[in-house]
Amino acid sequence: RALHDFQALLNQVEQHSRPFVGKGKVADYIPALAEVNPLQFAIAVVTTDGQIYTAGNCESRFTIQSVSKVMTLTLALQRYEEALWRRVGKEPSGTAFNSLTQLEFEKGIPRNPFINAGAIVTCDALYSRLSAPIHSMLEAFRAQSDNPRVIIDKKVANSEYEHRHRNAAMAHLMKSFGNFDNQVDDVLKAYFHYCAIELNVVELAKAYSYLSNAGYCQFSNQQLLTARQTKQLNSLLFTSGLYDAAGDFAYRVGMPGKSGVSGTIIAVVPGKFTVAVYSPGLDKVGNSVAGIEALAKLSEMIEFNAF
Ligand code: GLN
Repeated sequence: RALHDFQALLNQVEQHSRPFVGKGKVADYIPALAEVNPLQFAIAVVTTDGQIYTAGNCESRFTIQSVSKVMTLTLALQRYEEALWRRVGKEPSGTAFNSLTQLEFEKGIPRNPFINAGAIVTCDALYSRLSAPIHSMLEAFRAQSDNPRVIIDKKVANSEYEHRHRNAAMAHLMKSFGNFDNQVDDVLKAYFHYCAIELNVVELAKAYSYLSNAGYCQFSNQQLLTARQTKQLNSLLFTSGLYDAAGDFAYRVGMPGKSGVSGTIIAVVPGKFTVAVYSPGLDKVGNSVAGIEALAKLSEMIEFNAF
């Protein structure tokens, strides 16, 4: 189906998804997230030739949460290349995003960069190479989302920091195994600030448009990763981007993707487009209920996915 039908497709996706909006539960383990209105739905597509299509409440701004893990990995790969994989694995975890158990068995090497432990150790690596870790990440999002006014929601970042015990436990466990270089609290602060970067779906799809465009971001005019690294990153998103629901998402949607507990998900059709969806109600593993419905419907209608 031709890409110019996209607007009609997104309208249908929205219609299909509306009954699922408000289903599930808004994340409440971070008190500041518990306050959001669950009855929101928005979707945006950014194609590799620069077209933008939207449906729903696209002005809604939200913190990107775990979707930031993809940018953390990107910035870390730019600096470490293959050496990064000495500190974090590439295997699906099959456990919750905030699970601690594997870390003990696997001697402080997290399964992959998209669960919390893996993202936190990747932040630690990045922290060692950036003079202003929080500002550099914010600048990356500003440039790639084409909005120099993007901010960090300090209330969410501080709320997460205050309730950091589980993430702190992971970081300390990694430190005890020698897989952590900086002060735990410094790195956690950076990690929470990354999670609390505030965007709307259009900006989010733009920021991750390089994933569908062989590593090139058309908004910042930067080659962020090589084409090969981008393929590899998409492969990892396909196997691990949705925590312990990655298999189900692969089956239903068939695209590399990454979710966050604010209720957002990005997904990629390499060579074609990046899509971002937002709806705060989460299923039991912490993925947006209406978001997954929307992407499954989109995938079904466009009939192209990774396979
Ligand atoms: N900031 C959240 C946390 O560390 C991110 C988790 C998520 O989006 N899955 O718990």
